Amino acid sequence: MPALHRPGSLDEAATLLSTLDNPMVYGGGTAIQILVKQGILFADNFVDLATVPGLRDIAVDASGVTVGPMVSLRRMETDERVRATAPLAAAAYHQVANPRVRNTASAGGNLAHGDYRLDPPTALLVLGAIVRATSVRGTRDIPVREFFTDFQQTALEPDELVSGIRIPSQPAGSAGRFVKSSSLGENDWPCASAAVLVAGRTVHIGLGAVAPTPRYVSFDATGMDDQQAVDAALEVVEPELDPIPDVRGGAGYKRRLARVTVEDAVRAAWKDPAWRDTAWRDTAWKDTGNA
Ligand SMILES: Cc1cc2nc3c(=O)[nH]c(=O)nc-3n(C[C@H](O)[C@H](O)[C@H](O)COP(=O)(O)OP(=O)(O)OC[C@H]3O[C@@H](n4cnc5c(N)ncnc54)[C@H](O)[C@@H]3O)c2cc1C
Repeated sequence: MPALHRPGSLDEAATLLSTLDNPMVYGGGTAIQILVKQGILFADNFVDLATVPGLRDIAVDASGVTVGPMVSLRRMETDERVRATAPLAAAAYHQVANPRVRNTASAGGNLAHGDYRLDPPTALLVLGAIVRATSVRGTRDIPVREFFTDFQQTALEPDELVSGIRIPSQPAGSAGRFVKSSSLGENDWPCASAAVLVAGRTVHIGLGAVAPTPRYVSFDATGMDDQQAVDAALEVVEPELDPIPDVRGGAGYKRRLARVTVEDAVRAAWKDPAWRDTAWRDTAWKDTGNA
């Protein structure tokens, strides 16, 4: 039977992770509860972050929002500061599973879980978020674009915990859209998900569930119309598509669905007046009127 440890500070949590045998951070527990019961995850010691003060804080400044790892997905979805600073991120958190999961799961646990199908990382990738990792050696910042290293693997060292997430402000005059396609039900894991941010002349795309890790690509859309932007998006996305067949669909189906999902997200962002009205001022932009 694993032991449960309830540290009173971040330092104590880091010390426990570096000294205990086979420890595991316990965030919201939504993934741990299932994977331990299934015999997929093993731990001798759980280090529960629920008792560490300050890990549920949300702080906004001029350039972004910093959230503690124990902020629930539900708060990420509903908190006015997150919604105002990074609406694309709030939209992705809103689409995770169901309210029961979102109320319990934590923002830090969601990232550390490292599943290739997770929804929020798609938005965090395009926004250029930073994962703050703490251990007894100190704290380091890991760009989320370098965080997902392999199937179910992250850049965290075994004794590191996610101690914060820094999300830069969504640029003024940009447009973001998150689109999720599921085959088994509205609240189910995605077969494909895409977060798209059109900012200035650049289209940023974060992809979930289409490959063994979340993926990020971008391209310069200077002078493109809506259809050219969709075509360019599908071209840059194509090499990233390496879907894992499962009960939700075969590889061919998921590949086609990924393309539809990306197209939907690009078209929706392209139509957004928040970006279009800014882009119209730049004569480099064209539009066919179809968007
Ligand atoms: C029914 C169901 C449906 C779901 N559907 C979706 C979906 O559609 N989209 C989606 O994105 N997700 C989905 N999820 C996954 C859900 O988002 C994750 O279970 C959740 O985000 C994990 O967060 P948690 O805090 O509960 O993590 P935990 O279960 O506590 O931990 C998960 C992993 O992260 C580690 N960990 C936790 N916190 C930290 C930390 N601060 N630092 C370092 N390591 C840490 C743990 O050691 C463990 O390895 C679903 C989950 C369930 C149960």
